[in-house]
Amino acid sequence: MKLRESNIQKLDRGVYDVLIIGGGINGAVAAAALSGKGARVALIDQRDFAGFTSQQSSNLAWGGIKYLESHDYALVRKLCLSRNHLIDSYPSRVREIRFLATIDKGFRWSPLFLWAGAWVYWLFGNGFTKIPRLLFKRAISREEPVINTQNAAGGFEYSDAYLHDNDSRFVFQFVRSAMDRGGIAANYVESLGARRDGDLWITQARDVIDGKTFEIRSKVLINATGPFVDEHNRRTGEQTEHRHLFSKGIHLIVPRITPNQRILAFFADDGRLFFVIPMGARTCIGTTDTRVESPFTEVTEEDRQFVLDNINKRLNLQRPLNRADIIAERCGVRPLVVKAKADGSVRDWMQLSRKHEIDVDRAKAHLSIFGGKLTDCVNVGNEVAGIVAELGIELPHRNYKWYGEPHPSVREEYVHQARLMNLDGYTSPESIETLTSRLWRRYDRQALELLADIREDPRQAEVLIKGTDYIRCEIRLAKHQEMIVKLEDFLRRRSKIALVVRREDIRNAEGLLEACEILFGDQAREKFDEYFREPSATRQASAREVESGQAVAGAA
Ligand SMILES: Cc1cc2nc3c(=O)[nH]c(=O)nc-3n(C[C@H](O)[C@H](O)[C@H](O)COP(=O)(O)OP(=O)(O)OC[C@H]3O[C@@H](n4cnc5c(N)ncnc54)[C@H](O)[C@@H]3O)c2cc1C
Repeated sequence: MKLRESNIQKLDRGVYDVLIIGGGINGAVAAAALSGKGARVALIDQRDFAGFTSQQSSNLAWGGIKYLESHDYALVRKLCLSRNHLIDSYPSRVREIRFLATIDKGFRWSPLFLWAGAWVYWLFGNGFTKIPRLLFKRAISREEPVINTQNAAGGFEYSDAYLHDNDSRFVFQFVRSAMDRGGIAANYVESLGARRDGDLWITQARDVIDGKTFEIRSKVLINATGPFVDEHNRRTGEQTEHRHLFSKGIHLIVPRITPNQRILAFFADDGRLFFVIPMGARTCIGTTDTRVESPFTEVTEEDRQFVLDNINKRLNLQRPLNRADIIAERCGVRPLVVKAKADGSVRDWMQLSRKHEIDVDRAKAHLSIFGGKLTDCVNVGNEVAGIVAELGIELPHRNYKWYGEPHPSVREEYVHQARLMNLDGYTSPESIETLTSRLWRRYDRQALELLADIREDPRQAEVLIKGTDYIRCEIRLAKHQEMIVKLEDFLRRRSKIALVVRREDIRNAEGLLEACEILFGDQAREKFDEYFREPSATRQASAREVESGQAVAGAA
C-alpha cells in the first residue's frame, strides 16, 4: 500500500497528542521537533507539502541586513544566529554565500556607510562568516563584468546563506524526518474546521483526492496554515492577539547571468533590495514587495516589467532580458504578523519586519503560528515543542536534537562507499556538481540505499529524465518515500526541474513518461496529461520565441 493511503487510514484511529494543520516550513518543523521528542503527531496539508508560501521564497537563510535600517536589532541578531546555526547543522544544504551589493550614485546611503553597516551585521552574527569588503567601482567591474557600473558609486560584499537545493525540498526533508520518527503525515488532506469536545480537538478532514471526509482526534491543535491562519481560526472560533497582513513577492528564473557562485544585490527603483541569485545552471531574480489583501496572487505584466527593467538597467547584457527569457516564475505572499488590533499602517509598509509569533490558547490547547521565515525554522520547532510540553503533553525525549544532518561518520561511510564504486564516474556531463555530493545533500542517510541500488543494477545511476540531473533510482525512492501524488509534486517541489527547465522541454524530455510510470504505475499517462493541462504563464513565450536551452545573457 502506498505511504499516503496507509497514513490516511491511520489518521482517524485513536487520539494524537498533536495535530498540525499546514505542511509549510512552520508545520514541518513543528512535526519534526515533536515527533523527534516522542509525541504522537499527525500533520495534514490541503495541498502538497510546501505547496503554498514555502515554495515561493528567495531560498535565503539570512540575518536580514535590511532590518538594520528599521532598527530591528534584536530581530537581526536572532536571525543571524539562526542562520549560523543552520549553516552549522546543514553543511550540505545551507551554505554561506557572498552578496555583492552595488550602490548607485545618489542613493540614500553611501557605499562607505553601508560597508560600515555590513561590519555591524557581521558582528551581530558573532563574526561567523567571512568579513565584509568595500569595493570601488573598478573592482566591481573586474570581479563581475556583468554589472553595469556606469551609475555606480561603489559597493560592498558581505556573507549570508542560501538553500542549495530549494525551499520546498528543505521543507519536505523535515516532513520526512517527522515520518522517520513515527509522525503520520499526509498531503492533500484539508481541515474543514475543528471543535473542542471535552479535552480533545475533533478536526473534520477531507481527502482532497477522493473527497472522503473523516475526523482526527488530538489533545493539542496547531494552526500552521501560513497565510490562512486567520481564516482557520475563524473556522474554529479562536481569538488571537495577532493576525496577518500579506506582502506579495515574485521571482523570475532566467538563463544563467554570471558563472560566479555569488548573489548580486541592488537597490531597485523603489529603494528595496533585490537579488540575482544562482539557481544551478539558472539565475533567479527578485523580489518585489506589494501589499495585497488576498493570499492568492499571480505574476502580473507590471511585476514582470518591474523586475526586467530594474535588472536590465543594472547589468551589462549582450541584449536586455525580455519576457521570452523567462524559464519559470515564482509568486507568493509573505504572511506578516501584526497585532490583531493594528490598523495595518502602524509602520512603514516596506519596513514591516518578518518575525514570528506563536499565540497560545492554553485553556483549549491551541497554537497559532504567525509570520516567520525559513531562516528561523529551528527556533519555531523548539518553541512549539516547549509550549506543547507546558500544555501537559509528555515528551519522553525532551532533549533530543531533532534537526541537522547525520553525524559526520555516516557521511564518511557514504563517501567511502561512493568512492569505492566510483560513483562520480556516473555524474551526468550536464551536472554542475558531482553525484556524490548531490545525492548526499538531497537524501543524506538514504543515499546509502541509493548506492546499494546502483551496485545491484548500474542502470539505476543513469539520468532518467534527459536534460535534468535526476537518475533512475532517485525516482524509485521518490515513489516510495516522498508521497508524490501529482507530477507537479515531483517536478516543482521534491525536485526543481519545473523551475530550471522550460515547460515545453520538460514535456518533450526523453524519459519523463518512464519516470511517470515508475511514480504512478498505470496512472502514468493520466498524471502526465493532468500536469500539462494546467496553464503556465511562461508557456506561450517559451514555445513561440525561445529555442530550448538557449543562453541569452552574458557579460558584454
Ligand atoms: C517572495 C518571498 C520571498 C521570501 N524569501 C524568504 C527567504 O529568502 N528566506 C526566508 O527565510 N523566508 C523567506 N520568505 C518567507 C517564507 O517563505 C515564509 O515565511 C514561510 O514560507 C511561511 O511558511 P508557513 O509554513 O507559515 O506557510 P506556508 O508555507 O504557506 O504553509 C501553510 C500550509 O498550510 C496549508 N493549509 C492552509 N489551509 C489549510 C487547511 N484548511 N487544511 C490543511 N492545510 C491547509 C497550505 O496548503 C500550506 O501548505 C519569503 C516569502 C516570500 C513570499
